[in-house]
Amino acid sequence: MLKNAKAKLAIILIITGLIGILSIGITTIITLENMVLENNSEIIKTTIIKIEIILCIITLIYIILSIFVGILISKKVIEPSEKLIDASEENVKEVSKQKKQIETMLLHMTDGILAFDMDGKISLTNPAATRLLRIMPEDDTFDKIFGKYNINVNLEKVIYLENWTSTAQRVAIGDNYIYMFFAPLRNEDETPNGVIVVIQDITEHVKLDNMRKEFVADVSHELKTPITSIMGYADTLLEGEYDKQTQEKFLNVIATEARRMAKLVTDLLTLSKYDNDEERTKKAEFDLGDLVKKCQEKLQIEIQKKHHNAECFVTANVPAVYADRDGIERVVLNILSNSIKYTPEKGTIKMYVGYIYNDAYVKIIDNGLGIPEEDLNRIFERFYRVDKSRTREMGGTGLGLSIAKEILDKNNGSIDIKSKKDKGTEVVIRIPIKK
Ligand code: ADP
Repeated sequence: MLKNAKAKLAIILIITGLIGILSIGITTIITLENMVLENNSEIIKTTIIKIEIILCIITLIYIILSIFVGILISKKVIEPSEKLIDASEENVKEVSKQKKQIETMLLHMTDGILAFDMDGKISLTNPAATRLLRIMPEDDTFDKIFGKYNINVNLEKVIYLENWTSTAQRVAIGDNYIYMFFAPLRNEDETPNGVIVVIQDITEHVKLDNMRKEFVADVSHELKTPITSIMGYADTLLEGEYDKQTQEKFLNVIATEARRMAKLVTDLLTLSKYDNDEERTKKAEFDLGDLVKKCQEKLQIEIQKKHHNAECFVTANVPAVYADRDGIERVVLNILSNSIKYTPEKGTIKMYVGYIYNDAYVKIIDNGLGIPEEDLNRIFERFYRVDKSRTREMGGTGLGLSIAKEILDKNNGSIDIKSKKDKGTEVVIRIPIKK
């Protein structure tokens, strides 16, 4: 565009110059020719020819000079300025590209960003900030936005007092935990220019942290109960003279409590192995019906002790499943022993093995104590027990079902529990069959 304009300008200048020269020359010649017509003077005739020759030479020199001056101007002035304009056009493009990139980043960032000028007016915001801080259209200043939350921060403090340092705040907004990070914005010459706030949703983090704390508290509590009991009975035995029968009674309590601790620790280790992915599922093909029957055999003594009527039904031709056999055995043993434990004497326990579509299933149904509806969706939580004292007496750790769920997750399977208080419980596990 610019080159075109330059060419046009040069041509216009040359043509104007030419018209000027030619018009002066031609006017002079016409005047002289008129004089020739009047006087028929030979001198004037030769003067006209001379003038014509001079005119030609001047025109030629003019054209050569114009071209020369044109080239000179183009080299010294126009080309450098053209380069300058090209470069700045490039810069403008680059800046707008970067601006677009930053805008897209801000738009899709999960963290919120807010910037304020020195008067506390919003100068930049993104959707995450609006969502996390629940900013309304009328909230357009620092004070309006942060005044709502009980936090110890104001614009002046961030800009002037916290010289080069930053302030972090944590608030609960509704069900969410929000972390806010305030830092001063400065110009190149270090003068303050405003404040920037980074906002993060740390709800998941806080929840996990709480879960971890709860878990540690639960483990300590679960271990403390048997330890207290063991220490109590051991000290009593050491301090006094007791007859053989009492000694045996006390030693039995110590042994039971020690076994409970051992089971708890084993369960915890199993969980932690699955958590750390250490327990790599060594998958293999096996027959689910056989496995359930073997589990029943393993628990036969417990079944007989409580005079339960336990039966196992296996549908014909259940395809082999492909899973971690030891893990699945642990799951079935846990579910079956729960049925035995939480069903009063002379109960009925039925086990079914079958398959639907791509999954084989084991269904274990008892007519025992059942689980109240309000506890049902918490049953897979670690240490969750419906009736803490009662189930602890029965030797439960509250970890069995959470381990079962973990194992089935690792094997692409699933576990579901249906139950009615005082009526009974039905647990179904599904495991993929070998394709
Ligand atoms: P526990 O080691 O205490 O048995 P689980 O994780 O296996 O732990 O089970 C969690 C809780 O679910 C048990 O404490 C018990 O209250 C309840 N529960 C599990 N299975 C049954 C069942 N078949 N009948 C009644 N309650 C059950």
